[in-house]
Amino acid sequence: MPGRFAERGFLIFLVLGLAAGCARRPVEKVETREAMNTVVTVRVVAPSNPIARRALDDAWKEMDECVRLLDCHRPDSHISQINQSEPPFTVFVHPLVANCLAAAKEVWEETGGAFDPTIGPLLELWRKAAEEGKEPEQRNIAEALERVGMDKVEIEMETMMVARNVTARTPQSALPSQENLLEPAHLVGFTREGMRLDLGGIAKGCIIGRMVRRMERAGATAVLVDAGGDVYAAGQRPPSLVPPGGDPRWLVGVQDPRAPAQSPHEPGRLFTRLHIGDLAVATSGHYYRGFTIAGKRYSHIIDPRTGRPVSTRLASVTVVSPDPAQADGLATAIEVLGAEEGMKLVVRTEGVECLLLEWAKEPPSSEPSDDRLLEAPLVEYRSKGFAALEVGSGPTHDCVPPTSRHAGAPPPP
Ligand code: AMP
Ligand code: MG
Repeated sequence: MPGRFAERGFLIFLVLGLAAGCARRPVEKVETREAMNTVVTVRVVAPSNPIARRALDDAWKEMDECVRLLDCHRPDSHISQINQSEPPFTVFVHPLVANCLAAAKEVWEETGGAFDPTIGPLLELWRKAAEEGKEPEQRNIAEALERVGMDKVEIEMETMMVARNVTARTPQSALPSQENLLEPAHLVGFTREGMRLDLGGIAKGCIIGRMVRRMERAGATAVLVDAGGDVYAAGQRPPSLVPPGGDPRWLVGVQDPRAPAQSPHEPGRLFTRLHIGDLAVATSGHYYRGFTIAGKRYSHIIDPRTGRPVSTRLASVTVVSPDPAQADGLATAIEVLGAEEGMKLVVRTEGVECLLLEWAKEPPSSEPSDDRLLEAPLVEYRSKGFAALEVGSGPTHDCVPPTSRHAGAPPPP
């Protein structure tokens, strides 16, 4: 009898042991959604299924909230409200918007104004020109330039404390009295009429940064968010989720600008792959989302010094930084600055690395799908630290995520 008890005891011990082991075994989950004009993929490693689920739900909530505030193409977004502000053009802004604007201002300073989130009036001008099928006149460009410049925006962070959820109609009796019911207020003011913020060059970086932080708060131990060209990875996968001899860091693909994906759902050809942990990788390519006027292709990135779409020979710019907003903003700025100035900027900016790919000759066509481009020669510029992250080109399916999808398509002939 004691033997049977002992046996049962052992069995119970085994079952409990297995259950405890299962409960502690980390899980990895992946989800994908269409948002921000691309496909967003979130990967999460967590100690259990419920924690992974909560982290994913929180990430999507964070993304939706950020997009609602930052998307200048939505008439009801916070950015649109700021853009429609009336004299004296000073408004209270949500802390999330204030933080993204402050990050944009830092990149504006770092890049000597090549990145400028007040580029809105010029984007509107060129968008209208594309609709009308004719380049804007120089005097209209000069007029729009008058309303562009981050030096014409005043940002006051935490300028005062205001009570949460208090509006002009809140009755006196309902006003909170304790100090912990107060939160800091941030003010943004335009110093000119007709200014327009457009955070398209940095918003994705700000958003994926917030998604990752929120997943960590939910208990995730390693996460990766890929928002089509903007990737941010934190932590490392535990040994139990890595194949024997594998690298626990995330593997991220950089797309070859000569063979870009034809849709956000499929990976294009890879140029290289990087092993990263606690780093962001942003790729900008300027003719992928460009526009056409009278048969000529133009970039969607505008040079704030000339007021015209950029026409450098850069096919794609990939920037690595510990800060996803900085990576996103710098990638856009280097499209404006070109390879030489761009490399100098990266060398003097601490913690930042890059890979710049420039067409060696004018490419044969403006069509991204042109087969003749596939082997077109590229000049490669890479910073020392970038080369150290590279694992070389290899099969797309090995990559997590498969690739940074938003790389450059070719410039005009
Ligand atoms: P990205 O894809 O990150 O390179 O960002 C491109 C987007 O940034 C454009 O679609 C515009 O919304 C915005 N943009 C264009 N030119 C500039 C510029 N010089 N500085 C900052 N943002 C820009
Ligand atoms: Mg950018």
